[in-house]
This record gives sequence, structure tokens and C-alpha cells, in this order.
Amino acid sequence: MTGNLAAELGAGLSGEALAPGDPGYEMARRIHNGLIDRRPAVIARCGNTADVSYAVGFGREQELELSVRGGGHNVAGKAVADGGLMIDLAPMKRVDVDPRARRARAQGGVTVGEYDRATAAFGLATTSGVVSSTGIAGLTLGGGQGWLMGRYGLAIDNLISAEVVLASGEVLTASDDTNPDLFWALRGGGGNFGVATSFEFRAHPVISVLGGPILHPLGAAPQLMAFYREFASDLPDELSTQAAFMHAPDGSGLKLCAVAVCHCGEDAAQAEADVRPLREFGSAAADAVQRMPYPDINTGVDWLFPKGALSYWKSAFLSELSEAAVQVIVAAFEQAPSELCALVLEDFHGAATRVATTATAYPHRQPGFNLLLISSWRDPSQSDACIAWAHETYAALSPHMASRAYTNYLAAEDYDRVKDAFGPNLDRLVELKRRYDPDNLFHLNQNIAPAAAGA
Ligand SMILES: Cc1cc2nc3c(=O)[nH]c(=O)nc-3n(C[C@H](O)[C@H](O)[C@H](O)COP(=O)(O)OP(=O)(O)OC[C@H]3O[C@@H](n4cnc5c(N)ncnc54)[C@H](O)[C@@H]3O)c2cc1C
Repeated sequence: MTGNLAAELGAGLSGEALAPGDPGYEMARRIHNGLIDRRPAVIARCGNTADVSYAVGFGREQELELSVRGGGHNVAGKAVADGGLMIDLAPMKRVDVDPRARRARAQGGVTVGEYDRATAAFGLATTSGVVSSTGIAGLTLGGGQGWLMGRYGLAIDNLISAEVVLASGEVLTASDDTNPDLFWALRGGGGNFGVATSFEFRAHPVISVLGGPILHPLGAAPQLMAFYREFASDLPDELSTQAAFMHAPDGSGLKLCAVAVCHCGEDAAQAEADVRPLREFGSAAADAVQRMPYPDINTGVDWLFPKGALSYWKSAFLSELSEAAVQVIVAAFEQAPSELCALVLEDFHGAATRVATTATAYPHRQPGFNLLLISSWRDPSQSDACIAWAHETYAALSPHMASRAYTNYLAAEDYDRVKDAFGPNLDRLVELKRRYDPDNLFHLNQNIAPAAAGA
């Protein structure tokens, strides 16, 4: 049955259609998070936009549940569904850079590392994610937070246009001038409105950055975080920072509290001066801050996110980085059941926060800290303990959280947190969902139901 399905689908594709048992099926169905173990009825390995349009139509006609895979990184695992049709953009890897216009167009299967390398060849960069294997498609459609956001805003703030296959199979371009409503919705509304086959970004001259972590023993966390709170309150746009509670990369199991930096300013002496107070604070266990080519800063923590590790995340913006919140974080991290567990605080300031809340579907424009609670482990027998740790830590931190959350970091069962994810933009998103996908064909995402009550 599924073999016939694959043959029928494959007849309309330039790429392959894979059914269970086909060579390549096992590899294609796997996503980054090893906790997600699902078997689609058929996988459309799309080679171009026409393939995507055909696959969408095929799925609709055959009444197959559609999932869309860009980089396959989303921890909630919505890129793959049991018994469904997975529209797999992984083969769509083209990146075209126009160095004169400082623009780059990337297809939907490109990863952060691939995009960075393609633009770096021309001395250019766009805000993308801090781990190189993340897909730019899901990342951008959710917002796209990264090291350059203080100076250049989020990935969506650099988006010029996107090519999208709608639920009807029709292909549209969305930009400020063409289908501007759709363009607004794509900048934060996730995969709700169609399959984005390519993205056109502004790119900026960034050749090297001063970046890396300064690592302190966990015992120094209260003092370091008190200092960091002040330090982060007055940063130049060029300097982005994150704090992290993590284990030493050497496998010793040592628990550390780190502040990582990325300074993208052209003036090397100024960059050194801006970062110096942080480097001079206390007695760091290690200081790995150094000048490096821009793409390297987005590979620095790849080791913490190996493909196939089992992962479960929770996330919310903090109302403030108070002393009490730090105490809870430290106490929770002391109990972390796996060396891949970490808590990260992403600082928001600068260009990313100077965009109006309703200017893009992504609404989180206030300065402050986004908490990412990462539970990750290798041994399946640890699953219950690691998931329980994430829940307990999240509950303990709840009094310190704002009711705002970044779509792209939510756990599968948090996929009803649409109010937290879209805030004041939810009503407009529901209206646009009704226009572009009234039957909710694209529902395996942070779903904006077309019939949402109260919209
Ligand atoms: C280790 C790690 C590090 C991360 N770091 C960052 C970071 O620094 N900054 C940041 O902002 N986020 C980060 N993220 C979150 C990341 O942005 C999301 O997981 C995002 O969904 C990944 O995109 P993807 O294409 O790889 O995901 P996928 O799992 O392929 O897709 C996720 C969802 O996005 C939608 N989607 C994907 N591609 C398309 C498309 N072409 N058209 C329409 N819908 C699509 C679908 O709904 C799909 O279910 C990180 C995630 C991980 C696991």
C-alpha cells in the first residue's frame, strides 16, 4: 500500500519518494532529536519548488497528514508524523549570494552552517542560529535569534522576501510589496501558512568576531550573575551575550557557569575594550574568548547538541534576572541528571528590541532574558529522570517568568501556548490563517487554528 503511494508520489517528483523499507528511508525519517521516533507513510525528498507544490497537492488529495522538514532540528519533533507525508526539503541546499546588493537567497533545506559558509565567502553574514546544524527554514519562520541580533536584528528582520507554496499548491512570493500580509505572518508565525521554499536575506559585512565563553566554577554563579546583570544592561549593539549553566566540555562532569560573547564591531580595539570588564571579573576557570571567522562562532557549542541525543526543552522569557531566579537556576542545575543538560539565558538588546511588537508576527521585542531549559541525554533509560528534571525546574522557575515564549523552543506538549508565543499578534494571525490555510492543512507546528476562539 505505502509502496504504491510512494510510486504515485514519486511519479510527480524530480526527487525521490521513499516508503518504509526503501534505501534511505530510515535516514530521512530521523530528525535531530533522538527522542522522536516516527514513521511517515511516505517521504517526499523535494528537489525544487515544483516538487513541494506537487507533494502538497498529493498529500491533500490522499488525505495524508502533512509534516514539513527543513533542517529537522525542532525539539518538539513536528517535522515528522507517524503515517503521514513528510515534505522533506533537506535536498534543497542552494545558496546564491549577490555581494554587490548584499543579499543572499537560500533554499528551505539549508542549515545555519551552510548559510554562514556561503555568505562568509563574500565577507557577509546574516543573523542565524548559534548551532550550525539548525535549519534556517524553521529558525527564520519562528523569528531567528542569534549572535548578530543586537546589531542587525533577528533573522526575520533581515528577510526581504520568501517563496511559499500555499495549501492550495499555488506558489507565491511574499515581501513588503507583494502579499505583505503573508510576509508579516511568515516573520514569526512558523510553518502555519505554507511551505517556504526559499528565503532572501539582507547580508552585512562581518568577517571576524571577538567571541567565545568565559567559564567560571558553578560556585561563583551568584557573583558572576550579579555582575552580568549590570554588564548586560548597557551593551553596545555590536556585543551580544548569553549566560549558560553547563558542564565542562572535557567530559570531567565539572559544573560551570559561563558567559559567552560575540562582538561583531569592526574596531578590534573597541571590541576588546567592550568585552574586557567581563574577562577581568573574578577568577575564571577558563577564558576562550578569541578573534575568529564569523561562521566559527556558530559552531562553538555544536558538541553539546550531537545528532541523535534525546532532548526535551522548556522555555519562557524571564520577567527579570533576579537574585532569586539565579538561586533557583543554580539549585536546579546542581541536580541536572545528564552532562548534556544546560540552562541558557539569551540576552535581548539593541536592534532586535527596536522593532515594534506588531511589526512582525514574532512579538518578543522587549529587552531582557530568554530562558532555555535544555534537558538532553544519550541513554534512553534516563528519559523519565531527564524529562522530570525539566518539568521540576520549569515549575520552580515559573514565578520568575513572563507569560511570553519563543515558538521555536517549546516542547511538544507546549504547542498550545499560542498566546504566549504570539501575544498581541494572535488575532491577526488567526485571520490570516483563515485566508491562507482555512482547512489547517499545515497543523504540525505551533498551531494557529483557523477556528481559534476569541479571535
Ligand atoms: C541545538 C539547537 C540549537 C538551536 N539554536 C537556535 C538559535 O540559536 N536561535 C534560534 O532562533 N533557534 C534556535 N533553535 C531552535 C530552532 O530555531 C528551531 O528548532 C527550528 O524549528 C529549527 O528549524 P529546522 O528547519 O531545523 O526544523 P524542522 O524540525 O525541520 O522544522 C520545524 C518546524 O518548522 C516548520 N518548517 C520547517 N521548515 C519549513 C519550511 N521550509 N516551510 C514551512 N515550515 C517549515 C514546520 O512546522 C516544522 O515542523 C535551536 C534548536 C536546536 C535543537
